[in-house]
Amino acid sequence: MSPPFVLVVGAGPSGLLLALMLGKQGISVQVLEAADALDDRPRATHYAPTAVQELRRAGILNEMEAEGSFISNGACWRKLNGEFLTGLPQSTDPDQNPNPLLCLPLNKLNVVLHRNLASLPQVEILYSHKVTGLGQDDTIAWVQVDTPDGAKTLRAQYIVGCDGANSQIRRSLFGDWEFPGFTWDKQIVATNTYYPFERHGYDWDSNFIIDPEHWFMAARISNDGLWRVTYGEVGGLSLEELQARQPAKFKAFLPGHPDPSDYQIVNFSPYKVHQRLAKKMRVGRFLLAADAAHLCNPFGGLGLTGGIVDVGGLFDCLAGIYSGQADEDILDIYDSVRRSKYRTVVNPTSSTNIRLLFEQKPETALQDSDFLRACKAAETDPAAAADLAQAAGRLQYDFTQHYRV
Ligand SMILES: Cc1cc2nc3c(=O)[nH]c(=O)nc-3n(C[C@H](O)[C@H](O)[C@H](O)COP(=O)(O)OP(=O)(O)OC[C@H]3O[C@@H](n4cnc5c(N)ncnc54)[C@H](O)[C@@H]3O)c2cc1C
Repeated sequence: MSPPFVLVVGAGPSGLLLALMLGKQGISVQVLEAADALDDRPRATHYAPTAVQELRRAGILNEMEAEGSFISNGACWRKLNGEFLTGLPQSTDPDQNPNPLLCLPLNKLNVVLHRNLASLPQVEILYSHKVTGLGQDDTIAWVQVDTPDGAKTLRAQYIVGCDGANSQIRRSLFGDWEFPGFTWDKQIVATNTYYPFERHGYDWDSNFIIDPEHWFMAARISNDGLWRVTYGEVGGLSLEELQARQPAKFKAFLPGHPDPSDYQIVNFSPYKVHQRLAKKMRVGRFLLAADAAHLCNPFGGLGLTGGIVDVGGLFDCLAGIYSGQADEDILDIYDSVRRSKYRTVVNPTSSTNIRLLFEQKPETALQDSDFLRACKAAETDPAAAADLAQAAGRLQYDFTQHYRV
C-alpha cells in the first residue's frame, strides 16, 4: 500500500478534526493513537465562535446539537459572595447569533468526530500505536511506532503532530525540554459536578469568581444540571491531598456553602497550568497543531479553540498542496501566522483571565482591570461591545488567499 498523504499523530480532538476535514476531500489519512481508546477526561467544554466556524466547515454542528451542545448565554465575573461585577452576554437565538460560542463536553465532541470518521474509507485510525521517533528526507517523512505487533516504521508525505501537551513529535524535533514559556506555580482542579447553582442566583451560564484564595469558574455544561467547576489550588499537592481538601474548598466557595451530600461530583481531575509555544510549527514535512504546538490556561478561551483554528488553517494548506492550488511554501506561512497569534500567551505579564481571577482585589477589580472595564463599557456601549467581539476573532486567518489563482 502506498503511504497516505497525511499521517496524523494523536486521536485527540485536533487530530480527529484534521483527519475528518482532509478525509472529506478524499485525501488519504492515517491517524496513530498511543492509547487503546479515546481520552474521556473532563477538559474542553466551550468553543469560541472562531472554532465553531471550523466545526461548521467540518459539517458536524447538527450532530453536536444532537449530543447536547447549546449556545451559552454568556460569561460574567463575580465576587466570592456571588455579587455580580460585569458580564459578556450572548444571544441564545441561533437566528440572531449564527456563529455563537457553543458548549459541549469534549468527550462528546470526540464521539461525534469519531462517528463521522468511521464512514470515510480513506481515513484509518490505528489505536495502541505509540510514536517513538521520526525522520524525513526530500521525498517522504516517517515515524517509528510501538504497536501490539512490535516496532514499525510508517510513512507519509506530511506528518502532523496533534499529540498533545507532551507531544513526541515536538520533542523529537526540538528536544525534550524545548517548549518555551512557563508553568504557573498554582494548579487547577477540574470537576464535573451536579449542583443547583441556579437556585443561588447563578443565572449566567459561565461564572468567573475573583478571589485571591478561592478563585474558580462555574459553567453549566449540560441541560440536566451538570456544571464544570474548576478551581485554583496551591501547587505541589498530590491527588490524595487534593481529594481530601475538596469538601472544605466547596464548602468555602460554592454558593450556599454545601456539604458533600448536597452535590455529586462525577469527574475530578487536577491539572498543571502552562503557557508555552513551540519554536516552530513546521519543520520540513512535519507540522504541529493545537496543544502539541501551544498551551494556554483554560480560562482565556485560547485552549482547544485555538487548536481548532490551527486545524482549519492547516487543512486549507494541506488540501491546497494536494489539489495543486498551493505551493509547499504555504506551510511556512502557516508556521509564522499561527505562532504570531500565540506570542503574547507565553509572556507571564500579559493580561489573561487566570491572572485576573487570583491577582485582582475583588473590591477594586472593576476599576483596576482593563478587561473588566472594557466589559463594563460594553454593557451600555455597542461600539465597545463590537470591539470586544472583534478581539476574539483575531485568532483567524484565511490561508486560501495564498492559493495560486
Ligand atoms: C480543565 C480544562 C478545561 C479546558 N477547557 C477548555 C475549553 O473550555 N475550551 C477550550 O478551547 N479548551 C479548553 N481546554 C484545553 C483543551 O482541552 C485542549 O486544548 C485540548 O484537549 C487539546 O486537544 P489536542 O487534540 O491538541 O490534544 P489531546 O486532547 O491531548 O490529544 C492528544 C492525543 O495524542 C495522543 N498521543 C500522545 N502522545 C502520542 C504518541 N507518542 N503517539 C501516538 N499518540 C500520542 C494522546 O493519547 C491523545 O489522545 C481545557 C483544558 C483543561 C485541562
